[in-house]
Parts: sequence; C-alpha cells; structure tokens
Amino acid sequence: MFNTITHKVNNLVHRVTDDHLRLAVTGLSRSGKTAFITSLVDQLLHIDKTDNPHLRLFAPVKNGQILSVKRVEQGDLTLSRFEYDKNRDCLESEPAKWPASTRGMSEIRLAIHYQRQDGLFRYIKEKNTLYLDIFDYPGEWLLDLPMLSQSFKGWSKNQQIFHKGVRQELAQQWLNKVKQLDLMKKADEEKIANLSEEYTAYLLACKEQGMQYIQPGRFVLPSESQGAPVFQFFPLLDLSEEQWEQLEKSDKSSIYHTLKKRYKFYQKKIIKPFYEDYFSQFDRQVILADCLTPLNHSQDAFLEMKLGLQQLFKHFHYGERTLFNRLFSSNIDKLLFLATKADHITSEQWSNLENLMRQLVQEKGNFKQFDSINTGYYAISSICATENVNVMQNGEKFKAIQGIRTSDKKNVILYPGTVPSRLPEANFWDTNNFEFESFEPQSLDFDETIPHLRMDSVLQFLLADKLQ
Ligand code: GDP
Repeated sequence: MFNTITHKVNNLVHRVTDDHLRLAVTGLSRSGKTAFITSLVDQLLHIDKTDNPHLRLFAPVKNGQILSVKRVEQGDLTLSRFEYDKNRDCLESEPAKWPASTRGMSEIRLAIHYQRQDGLFRYIKEKNTLYLDIFDYPGEWLLDLPMLSQSFKGWSKNQQIFHKGVRQELAQQWLNKVKQLDLMKKADEEKIANLSEEYTAYLLACKEQGMQYIQPGRFVLPSESQGAPVFQFFPLLDLSEEQWEQLEKSDKSSIYHTLKKRYKFYQKKIIKPFYEDYFSQFDRQVILADCLTPLNHSQDAFLEMKLGLQQLFKHFHYGERTLFNRLFSSNIDKLLFLATKADHITSEQWSNLENLMRQLVQEKGNFKQFDSINTGYYAISSICATENVNVMQNGEKFKAIQGIRTSDKKNVILYPGTVPSRLPEANFWDTNNFEFESFEPQSLDFDETIPHLRMDSVLQFLLADKLQ
C-alpha cells in the first residue's frame, strides 16, 4: 500500500519536474552578453557544498539544494558552442583581458543536479536534474523584425526618418554616390557590392558614434557569409513617388529590381528562419543594455538606445496584435531587463541606473503589455572590474571607484559622475560632464569565481522556481 502511494507520488514528482529550461540572452552589441553568460556559467560551476559567499541571494544554494553543476553536450549540435573555457582563460591570463564579444548565435548546456525543497514531497529524497540551455544571440537580429512587414520601398522611406544630425553627415559620401547611379540601368554586381560596402561602413560609423538603431542588423555583425549578395543592398533615399513608380516599371535586371530582390531574400532567408527555428522555443529571456555608454555620447545616441531597446521588447508585447504576435508565438514566462556594467559607477548610483533602465522600458506605460510575463529589472556587473573605495577630500569622505583604466592601463581612483534616475532632457548633455571610463578585468586564480554584482539576484529570478 505504502509502496503504491510512494510510486504514485514519485510519478507525480516526475510529472511536475521541469527538466529543461531554455534561457535566451540578448542585447545590442557591446551590451555585455559574452561577459554575462561567462559569469552566469562560472557562478553555477563554482557552487560548493559548504561555502558560497558569491551567491548569497540565490535560495537553492543557501538551502543546500544544489548537489552539483556540470557542463554537458549542448542540445543543438548545429549551433556554435558558447566559448566558456576560452573566456575563462582570458580572465585567468596575466594581465587579464576581456573575452571576445558575441558574433552570432551560440549555446551552452549545464546539468544542475538538485534536491527538491517542496514541502509536500520533502520526505522523498528525490534527486532531479534541470538541464539549462543558454542561448546567446545578437540583439541586432531583433532590430530587423519590422523589416518583415515592410516592402523595400516602405523600409527605404522609414530609413529616411533617421537621416538627420550625425547620421546625415556620416551618410553623405555614400549618398552622393548612390545619387549618381542610374537605378533603371542593368545591374552591375561589382558596383552594388562596393556601394553596399560603403553603406555598411556608414552603419558601422553610426555605431561608433553610439547610435544603436541599425538596420539591417546583420550588416554590422561580422559573419562568415558577409560577402554574399544577400548582404549587398541598401535603402533608396530622397525619391519622389513618381520616381518610385518609374523604377517599378524598369527591367527586372535593373539595379532597382536587383536591390529589391535582395531585400526580399534577406527577409525570407535571414530574418525569418531565426524566429521560426529558435525564438519561438525560448522559455525565458534576458535583455541586456549598456545604459552608461550612450550617456557618455549624446542625446541622439541615448534616444537611439531607447528606440533599439523598445524594438527588442516589442517582441514581448502581449495582449496587443503586434506584428510579432501575428507572425510567431512565444512561450516566454519570465523576462529580465539588466542594466550592465554597474561597476563603472559608485554603489549609491546603482539604484539610479536600475530606475533609468526601468523607465526606458516602461515609458508611456509599455509595462502593461507585459502583464502575462513576470518581469524583473536589475543593475548588475557580470565581471566586476573595479572596487568601491572611500576617498577623503578637504576633510570630506566620498565614494569613488578604483580599477585599471583601459585607456592607459593605470590603476586609478575616480568619481565617474551621477547617473540620472529619470530619462534625461536635451540640456542634460550640455550641463553634465560624464566620464564613464572603461576598465580592465582583474586577473583570476584558476579556482577563483568571477567577481560580480548581483548575479545571485539574477539566478534567483531566473532559476529558483525551477529548483523547488
Ligand atoms: P557583447 O557584444 O554583448 O557580447 O559584449 P561583451 O560581453 O563582449 O562586452 C563588451 C565589453 O563591455 C567588454 O569587452 C568589456 O569591456 C565591457 N564589459 C562587459 N561587461 C562588463 C562588466 O560587468 N564590467 C565592466 N567593467 N565592463 C564590462
């Protein structure tokens, strides 16, 4: 009798056990994806049976539920392996260096062996395994989503909106050359390739200036097939309706029709497969944003970051008939927004950074659309490169940060400035003098865990409920 009950309960335990979790991590380039996944994996692999000061706020560790964590072969053998070991080597080298940034999609799988804590089944010493699949993919891929519903003409017109200020200046050279083209003429592949290269150089220059809303997103990410014709097209700006009509009537082998054909191919063969093959299968999503760098640059850069970020989270607008909803379904139940690199600022500024991130996402009540998804916001540092120190000046004590500055490799103590807790107004960039410097990582001993800020809160949000 007892055996039968135990058997039934065991079955139930098996049934309710979530043994797989597909966690996707994204963010625009340089937002800190590589650093984040490296640190997340490192924190989990360094869980010790007795002492885990690096994960105080992660309840399953505090409760002693986690028995071991191992890296195992990934699920999708067609994807690149996330280079955890290589990244760890970079941090163990002397001097330590930052790991290479995300280039495309990659995966890593961890097997987390744990014991349940659930009150009902406490007496059954059931051991379970949660397979955690972590996917790293460039946020730029998500920026391309609106292109799926735009024609070549519609997309070109949309790009026109951005042609002001810094962008207009940077685009001038490429634009002058396009204006000299006779788009009705038979396509010259070489010419299109060269102009596409110039267009890509312009997009990269925009990125250099802190602009983040870049389309097509794949153009600014290095990839093996970069020279393929599908990556060789560009928008047509400053055309009248009449000119568009004329172009449409041109021969199918014209420059115009070649550009249009490539745009369509990009939609079908590059943008769509990602959503169909991967995106719809993710369970939880982390979105990273470096909110500090645009504060260093300009209001334009900041506004583009906001636009870029809002484009990323448009994918999770539930309850509305969004383009995304119409095209794909998503089962994401938790969404975590992280403002990265919080070690660039002093500890009393962390809450400001978190608020800023929250406001960027929630502007105009956007948060309502996440009703069905549990959403979190934290300011974190995946790989902490500085220390908070107290400095005395003129008899007054104030907080500063200390670390190896990247620009001159000097060990410096500095006060980087105040982070606004609200979305800054235009005059903010005139009156504030920001200096968020880059720092080099500290060199790690082979058995040392990566120093971090709040990665334990991140783990608590993302994993704790799956390990109960
Ligand atoms: P990805 O392009 O999103 O993969 O970005 P990375 O993870 O490669 O990060 C880009 C750069 O940001 C790194 O090379 C570091 O210079 C910096 N960075 C990332 N995370 C941190 C962090 O936690 N602290 C500090 N100080 N710098 C960071």
